[in-house]
Amino acid sequence: MADEKSLNFLEEIVENDLKEGKYKTIATRFPPEPNGYLHLGHAKSICLNFGLALKYGGKTNLRFDDTNPVTEETEYVENIKNDVQWLGFQWAEELYASDYFPQLYEFAVRLIKKGLAYVDDSTSDEIAEQKGTPTQPGRNNIYRNRPIEENLRLFAEMKDGKYPDGSKVLRAKIDMAHVNMLMRDPVIYRIKHAHHHRTGDTWCIYPMYDFAHGQSDSIEQITHSICTLEFVPHRELYNWCIENLEIYPSQQYEFARLNMTYTMMSKRKLLQLVNEKLVNGWDDPRMPTLSGVRRRGFTPESLREFCEKIGVAKRDNLIDLSLLEFCAREHLNKISDRRMVVFDPLKVVITNYPEGQEEMMPTENNTEAENAGVRHMPFGRELWIEREDYMENPPKKYFRLAPGQMVRLKSGFIIRCDEAIKNAAGEVTELHCTYFPESRSGHDTSGLHVKGVIHWVSVKHAVPAEIRLYDKLFVTEDMNAIEDDFKNHLNPDSLKVLSKVYAEPELANAKLGDHFQFLRMGYFVLDPDSTPGKLIFNRTVTLRESK
Ligand code: ATP
Ligand code: MG
Repeated sequence: MADEKSLNFLEEIVENDLKEGKYKTIATRFPPEPNGYLHLGHAKSICLNFGLALKYGGKTNLRFDDTNPVTEETEYVENIKNDVQWLGFQWAEELYASDYFPQLYEFAVRLIKKGLAYVDDSTSDEIAEQKGTPTQPGRNNIYRNRPIEENLRLFAEMKDGKYPDGSKVLRAKIDMAHVNMLMRDPVIYRIKHAHHHRTGDTWCIYPMYDFAHGQSDSIEQITHSICTLEFVPHRELYNWCIENLEIYPSQQYEFARLNMTYTMMSKRKLLQLVNEKLVNGWDDPRMPTLSGVRRRGFTPESLREFCEKIGVAKRDNLIDLSLLEFCAREHLNKISDRRMVVFDPLKVVITNYPEGQEEMMPTENNTEAENAGVRHMPFGRELWIEREDYMENPPKKYFRLAPGQMVRLKSGFIIRCDEAIKNAAGEVTELHCTYFPESRSGHDTSGLHVKGVIHWVSVKHAVPAEIRLYDKLFVTEDMNAIEDDFKNHLNPDSLKVLSKVYAEPELANAKLGDHFQFLRMGYFVLDPDSTPGKLIFNRTVTLRESK
């Protein structure tokens, strides 16, 4: 974990560049491909890119890397924008790599004119076969020496739609024996007669990643282009393109992608979970997507803190999921109003409390926050408590209800269990208790001493609710290490629904985005599936790390 005070290696690079006067200000970009929803890994990239620019007074562009017409959709664009803003960042400019298509085409022509690109009629299999292996050099083919004029004409014809998909590609002419396989005459343009989410049918040739990304950085004069480690071998090509096109020298830096325990973070696989209905959509609260964790109740503050805590590494590692939960608890503890909700109700009848009588019990919303105020909970003769707060034969240190044993009702009175009523099957159906009027919370003159405090809800005033409890989506710690189908690793118990739950009446006013601590149960947030007649709450995290 990074020492909070020391600089991470990217900050060191930036500080050094600024000190040496290499740049007056810095520019970074966050470049999502709009082919899915953002996940926690993207949050790390967002915090890094925007964080650097905020810290050193530069700017960050949001650039959609939309050069692949087949997988991209406008729906994703809107969600990505929403997620970045929700995380708390604002981009300088909203840009699209597809807006650079005319410019990228010109760049390709420039390479051809310099004798540094050629049209190749080989099939993709032939190209792969001629490429050699890491230990064997590749071979030049007959197309490699096409005259410049012919390349210019063919490339223009490719653009004009004269050729079918896969019949020709444009390749950079570098070195078929290069030690870096990516430098062995990489394909930089391919023919694809496909509709693009922004450019429609204007283009039928599309640039490859390596001929779009660096060039887009350069067009935007990005100073520090930060990406994940798998792009290390691409850096040489990134630089080759910039040098030979003689364009603005953006520079690429790589950091370790975020991997988390029991989590899978690849848009392609997450899409599979969605399409095969293994989860309930991209924003299923079990998903590591930003829309999923938002719906689950994680706050942007806790995600930013998490990204800060994990730091920036140069080597791949696996971050414990519990660290994210820790960050969530830290923040939720400060902002969440406390509420009482009974998950597994057992009725208590207070036999010495007058029938028809009610009184209001003031109780603090949140002692961890200033001015969180007080609410008043109705108290009466009949209450719901948790079934597990009663035991017929309790072990020694059980401080809750048992025959003859006393407990304090939080913000209420001390009660004693006199009798458990059972049905024919021998199950306890209600408890008959006595309350001690002089034990009222805050005004206790009873002299009674009890160790246990439990939560409760008045039967008459209780609001029915549904509770959704989540566990990890996968049972395997390192999902990157698996070799079989990830579906074999799904946790069958990742969602548990409790449908006979009673909440204190104040929760009828809960709004989307409100965070609550349900006493002893964890942190919760209202789910958008809720309707006025049916409250549904998601558990964000438990109060403590489970063993
Ligand atoms: P995925 O494999 O999930 O599709 P990606 O890298 O293809 O991810 P992009 O939309 O291309 O997704 O990524 C946008 C930016 O987010 C890139 O700069 C990428 O390096 C970064 N990024 C993606 N996944 C992670 C991760 N797990 N940790 C850190 N950064 C990530
Ligand atoms: Mg990608």
